[in-house]
Amino acid sequence: MEQKLFVYNTLTRKKEEFIPLNEGHVGMYVCGPTVYSDVHLGNCRTFISFDLIFRYLLHLGYKVRYVRNITDAGHLEGDSDEGEDKVSKKAKIAQLEPMEIVQKYTVDFHNVMQVFNSLPPSIEPTATGHIIEQIELVKTILEKGYAYEVDGSVYFDVEKYNQSQDYGILNGRKLEDMLNNTRNLGGQNEKHGKLDFALWIKAKPEHLMKWPSPWGLGFPGWHLECSAMSNKYLGHQFDIHGGGIDLMPTHHTNEIAQNMACCGKNPASYWLHTNMLTMNGQKMSKSLGNSFLPHELFLGTHPLLKKGYSPMTVRFFFMQASYRSTVDFSNEAIEAAEIFYKKLAEAAKKVAALQQNALIGVDEETDKAINDFCDDCYHGMNDNFNSPKTLEALNNLSKWINTYSSNTRNSGEIKAETFERMKKTYNDFFFDVLGLKLEDSENGATDDLMQLVIKLRNEAKLNKDYATSDKIREGLKNIGFQLNDNKQGTTDWVRI
Ligand SMILES: [Zn+2]
Repeated sequence: MEQKLFVYNTLTRKKEEFIPLNEGHVGMYVCGPTVYSDVHLGNCRTFISFDLIFRYLLHLGYKVRYVRNITDAGHLEGDSDEGEDKVSKKAKIAQLEPMEIVQKYTVDFHNVMQVFNSLPPSIEPTATGHIIEQIELVKTILEKGYAYEVDGSVYFDVEKYNQSQDYGILNGRKLEDMLNNTRNLGGQNEKHGKLDFALWIKAKPEHLMKWPSPWGLGFPGWHLECSAMSNKYLGHQFDIHGGGIDLMPTHHTNEIAQNMACCGKNPASYWLHTNMLTMNGQKMSKSLGNSFLPHELFLGTHPLLKKGYSPMTVRFFFMQASYRSTVDFSNEAIEAAEIFYKKLAEAAKKVAALQQNALIGVDEETDKAINDFCDDCYHGMNDNFNSPKTLEALNNLSKWINTYSSNTRNSGEIKAETFERMKKTYNDFFFDVLGLKLEDSENGATDDLMQLVIKLRNEAKLNKDYATSDKIREGLKNIGFQLNDNKQGTTDWVRI
């Protein structure tokens, strides 16, 4: 079967055949989290989407170097060089070292990604670990004449750059439009042009995270780290650059400008962007009170949630939409995803033990239908990682798996290689490509034990033996089980 992969490239605004720069190898860079607070669900969707892309490229046999950074310095509250550094601000409020904040939220982020069964990237570099590389990059951009220094800060000269290059190449906008629609923000009295952005920012005395540089004590601009780290680990040109769609207009636009200015090359051939997660049709935001954290979703503790949903249900729910579409979260939608996930998981459980009956002669129509569904699994993913199409194909295969498993029809009616292909394709896509797990069977095996522990703990609470009840709760937490307390007492539990 021919395996041509097509991806939607934001840069060209079309679907293009994916042809890596080096045959058999893929270099992929994805903008990672800023580790100053809990990772929110929208971010989880982005990283799960790129996990799916990573997994499919691996499945196709590519050697993939997947770099996803950790932003631990330089990301200011506003995207236009205004406000405080997010990590520093949180550190001051919590009266902690910035690196304590970074450590806490990096560990939390990794835990959440693991719960979602996302593979770790090949390299996870941090901004603070690459200050030298970032300073070198600023020096080169200065030497090439695309930046200027003002009182210890260095700014990128967008209008000068646009004389020879297209600054709006990624967002498809003209410089004049962007200039007209830009507010005057941070560092404006120092900047030559409204769109100029900081490469290096002079640190105020109270600023916590700062480093010596040729321009004095300061810290890098947020956009710089991704140019420096992608250059270092993937070279001046690589295949895929990804991130959330919100990063496209400014962060990625500036990243391209930096790379072009220093190395004369747009760093990535294909720019991929994931879309937003909304709640009942509205943008999720803390101020609207309609955003929740992964653990609130697992435990069902947010007022907008009817109940908790398992991590695999959430992963499955995200994959029911293409990464480029908006996903609208509602209790009804995720409940439907839960039912669908369980249905496909049931078939996945049966696959391993499924044995073909002795051949009785081939029913060509059935044989072809099953081969077509196997092909459809690939067609879906080859069409810009269209996971809903692949899920539909798996759903079709699951019906045959159930049919043959229950002997409703004789599995000897299809060729032996078709039977094996059906099993392998289902297995490969359910587990390896979509990254789903069989959490039900695992949970089922331990649920009886957990119910016993919950009962003992409830009894301890009734006897006002809170020391024991707390000990049970903490002990379970340490080994990865979270009890879900509600008005009726404790009745439920989840793996964390
Ligand atoms: Zn980035």
